[in-house]
Amino acid sequence: MGKLIVQKYGGSSLADNVRIMSVAERIVTASVSGNQIVVVVSAMGNSTDDLLALASSISDNPNKRELDVLLSTGEMVSCSLVTMALNSLGHKAVSLTGAQAGIGTDSEYSQARILEIDPSRMLKEIEEEKIVVVTGFQGIAEDMEITTLGRGGSDTTAVALAASLKADICEIYTDVDGIYTADPRVVPEARILEEIGYEEMMEMASYGAKMHPRSIELAALYNIPIRVTSSFRDVRGTLIH
Ligand code: ASP
Ligand code: MG
Repeated sequence: MGKLIVQKYGGSSLADNVRIMSVAERIVTASVSGNQIVVVVSAMGNSTDDLLALASSISDNPNKRELDVLLSTGEMVSCSLVTMALNSLGHKAVSLTGAQAGIGTDSEYSQARILEIDPSRMLKEIEEEKIVVVTGFQGIAEDMEITTLGRGGSDTTAVALAASLKADICEIYTDVDGIYTADPRVVPEARILEEIGYEEMMEMASYGAKMHPRSIELAALYNIPIRVTSSFRDVRGTLIH
């Protein structure tokens, strides 16, 4: 039987149209082996930084609510484009914002925490055999306000969705090959860890792929295995479990 897999792609993996097509091909490869795929995307390249710079160019002290509305658009761009790319490869897919995906948060703008997830819309789309593509890093508060989860928060979106959908695994695709024993730029003999425990991952200053700390806490809480690997190369990466 196929697996339910949550795949998260970071900004550098989605930096331009060529990268987006390559990510779409990777998603298709995973889905044709009978697996159901839910994709979580970050904003393209440095676009979150660009949006922040735009806000600063307008105001020294931008309103926090409006800043979250602005930053949430970065992930909407990549989410719709990845979905179009999947369609162009002949696959059924649908983009969902955090709110549409049922991601409920508290009201702390720019550092909201996920409180609950209503997976019913995602499950309906999965039932219709669509690949579901969800914006990372954002949700909706009880009063219908758009919130963001803090920089790097798409990792946490991915793990939270994996928990709520009871996924078999959460795969985090990035621009490095996994988690290293030491900083590979400084220590040439640094090597990729095949696996690492949740506790150790939370305690050690990890090298290579950086993960949003809350994502590891959630993974430990719900016992979700995470594979951190490259979207640029075919490597096994590191299993966090
Ligand atoms: N795009 C957001 C950021 O750059 C969230 C993320 O990438 O996870 O922080
Ligand atoms: Mg990012």
